Amino acid sequence: MSITEIAVAPATSDAEVRVVSHWIDGAERPSNSGRTAPVHNPATGAVTARVALADQAEIDEAIASAEAGFAVWKDYSIAKRQTVLFNFREILNARKRELAEIITAEHGKVVSDAMGEILRGQEVVELATGFPHLIKGAFSENASTGIDVYSLKQPLGVVGVISPFNFPVMVPLWFVPIAIAAGNAVILKPSEKDPSAALWLAQAWQEAGLPDGVFTVLQGDKLAVDGLLTSPVVQSISFVGSTPIAQYIYETASKHGKRVQALGGAKNHMLVLPDADLDLVADQAVNAGYGAAGERCMAISVVLAVEPVADELIAKIQDRIGKLKIGNGAGVDGVEPDMGPLITDIHRDKVSSYVDIAEADGATIVVDGRNYTVQGHEDGFFFGPTLIDDIPTTSRAYQEEIFGPVLSVVRVASYDEGLDLINSGQFGNGTAIFTNDGGAARRFQKEVQVGMIGINVPIPVPVAYHSFGGWKQSLFGDAKAYGVHGFDFFTREKAITSRWLDPASHGGINLGFPQN
Ligand code: NAD
Repeated sequence: MSITEIAVAPATSDAEVRVVSHWIDGAERPSNSGRTAPVHNPATGAVTARVALADQAEIDEAIASAEAGFAVWKDYSIAKRQTVLFNFREILNARKRELAEIITAEHGKVVSDAMGEILRGQEVVELATGFPHLIKGAFSENASTGIDVYSLKQPLGVVGVISPFNFPVMVPLWFVPIAIAAGNAVILKPSEKDPSAALWLAQAWQEAGLPDGVFTVLQGDKLAVDGLLTSPVVQSISFVGSTPIAQYIYETASKHGKRVQALGGAKNHMLVLPDADLDLVADQAVNAGYGAAGERCMAISVVLAVEPVADELIAKIQDRIGKLKIGNGAGVDGVEPDMGPLITDIHRDKVSSYVDIAEADGATIVVDGRNYTVQGHEDGFFFGPTLIDDIPTTSRAYQEEIFGPVLSVVRVASYDEGLDLINSGQFGNGTAIFTNDGGAARRFQKEVQVGMIGINVPIPVPVAYHSFGGWKQSLFGDAKAYGVHGFDFFTREKAITSRWLDPASHGGINLGFPQN
């Protein structure tokens, strides 16, 4: 099957519905488990495919294939591995539009946003093409007389990556290119909500020259995840998703002796000081609050407005919301909207329930996105952009992650009050300060208890050669995604102390502890 066929395979009736299968041993592997889950087009609400949910036999098969793939790949020279990575980068770059359309068809985000997600993933592929520099060891000549000490960075073996629905390409690419470059074999368990992009990636890796078994896609649910967490063959787990599952992954995989990086949920605040440019702030709050319908772990969900700016800022945000176009992310008659639907009807109803909670707790709903419909897409999972003012900080709608197009405003009297609110939250993924005062910004970067900080930048996702990771309940363990952290995570170091004897340097018998 070509990549294009994966893109266009239609489903015209329940009887003909496409089944999204595994990718094992360099080919699509139809499932015999008898278990599937529906995949929707969120813009229409239609079931467009069903995804296979692996059973234990399929999990075992995937792991065995990856183990065989690793045995081959670990002996590929650096130069040969590098060629595969360059080829993959070229395929991804040349065909990203078709991949973006696959993302939109199952996730719902607008195609230009899906293209942006691919480009951010491509950045990591480009970083990984330079891997020889990042995995080379160190050498100390004559550490002791006649003795050299050096280190090697070797691959772990078979590694597992478990990804969330909201970035079906970017998040896998945070890990997969680095793991493969470092010589590992990867099993990706994509989100069951948008599983097709992973198969496109598998096909692209194969076309790039990656040997069979080095990249495996295991479709499934908790059973597949638990199979990876508990297998003695799988050496590490890289997880991105919600906080409760991240914690479960961290604890379970650690208990089974694995290296784990587990990135969780978020509730990102934007602190607006009175000297900020309010037009810039309003633009950025709308972009970061409603882009991808708020289904980004780095979305801004709370604006902390240091008085007296709140009224003016809210008016500017409200004005901009009124101009947003909401619709099918694939576009209609070549025109793309600003914002698409949410991932499922269940998630839409959950987002809606948080707005109910905020209202019941006394907040003011300035713009209400509940019961939003798009003409011609009445069964789509749409939720309109929502703006909430004066949300009590005791409300669950303030404290918990909503993961939808809901922006809340809290009015604060001072920088310190805003900072305290950010630091008292359970999450620490991203945050931003908007100000023209360099001293205040510098103080903020020092004092805020958050892993990624924007200064007049609303979604501070670090570039590929830095690393991505939050603090507190947004990251379990201490290993971040990509950058130097990524290469450290996917390699295991060996230190070697070596002496080549010649007759003159032979030291004779000495039972003492070796000294310099
Ligand atoms: P999720 O936690 O529901 O699912 C993530 C993955 O875990 C999926 O592959 C899913 O199949 C699997 N999973 C779900 N329930 C499981 C269970 N009980 N046992 C084992 N595996 C299970 O997350 P989601 O809804 O797909 O994604 C949205 C969440 O991801 C949000 O909370 C968002 O903030 C977070 N996220 C975080 C980052 C980050 O970098 N920190 C990035 C993207 C998304």
